[in-house]
Amino acid sequence: MPELPEVESIVRQLSPALTGRHVRAVEMARRDIVRGGPHALEDVLPGREVRAVTRRAKRIQIELEGGVLAFHLGMSGRLTLAAAAAPVEKHTHVRIRLDGGDEELRFRDPRRFGGIWFLENATTGQGRFFGEVGPEPLELPLKDFRAILRRSRRQVKAALLDQSIIAGLGNIYADEALFDAGVHPLRRTDTLGDDEARRLLASIKKVLRRAIRCNGSTLSDYRRADGSEGDFQRFHRVYRKTGEACPNCGEVIARLVAAGRSTHLCPRCQPAPQAVVNLKARARTPRRSIERGRRLLSTPRSPERQR
Ligand SMILES: [Zn+2]
Repeated sequence: MPELPEVESIVRQLSPALTGRHVRAVEMARRDIVRGGPHALEDVLPGREVRAVTRRAKRIQIELEGGVLAFHLGMSGRLTLAAAAAPVEKHTHVRIRLDGGDEELRFRDPRRFGGIWFLENATTGQGRFFGEVGPEPLELPLKDFRAILRRSRRQVKAALLDQSIIAGLGNIYADEALFDAGVHPLRRTDTLGDDEARRLLASIKKVLRRAIRCNGSTLSDYRRADGSEGDFQRFHRVYRKTGEACPNCGEVIARLVAAGRSTHLCPRCQPAPQAVVNLKARARTPRRSIERGRRLLSTPRSPERQR
């Protein structure tokens, strides 16, 4: 699924290519891909000028004269600028023709977890249609991040994935940032010390900035606006590296499930929280010693103790 760096890479290509141009025509293969606002985009978009292309969380916002056209790529969405004469791929739901060139913007999404919103007379500052979205991690001050961690009191991986807490992080960058910071994904957010919080925020920003410089990670569906692939997958250190050696210490990269998602970590660089250590120790304890322990516990108390 495209995360902040992938969406940012698309925006950085679309912004100079689209700004100042006008929508000439819209062709829609399916209307239900429009999730909010009028579904007949061909009636409302033509004639409007593109004022800017921006990103908020994981969505692309085309700021038009008198409205905002927003795209969420979901799992498999692509928003590309293609020559109007180029063959149209299957699952291309919307084509937006622009003046000043022979190109069109195409939205393609085979799995349709993504969508399009048109917010008439709205600006990007308004939250309509999107629900609550947390702060942008690249602009997040440390004191706000600490407050978020204290309030959340959940496993840190789950908190990082929750878009209402912090916007834009997904499975790849949460795993890479936690590894970079040396924080175990199952640590509870309110148990992280000041140093750990500082390290984690610095790692989140570092990993995201590097990924943006590499135009994001292409593992399957993600493509940039010009159709090319991202490059950051070559620099992943733990994500989907289960069984390989940790680049820091040589320990074998492990996989566990956190927040219902596959999570990759180095068990040595990211020490487990005490609760997990206890659980593992119990799992390793031979059955007969557990039974002996139970017998001891159920032995009637001695007369002195009862007094
Ligand atoms: Zn390691």
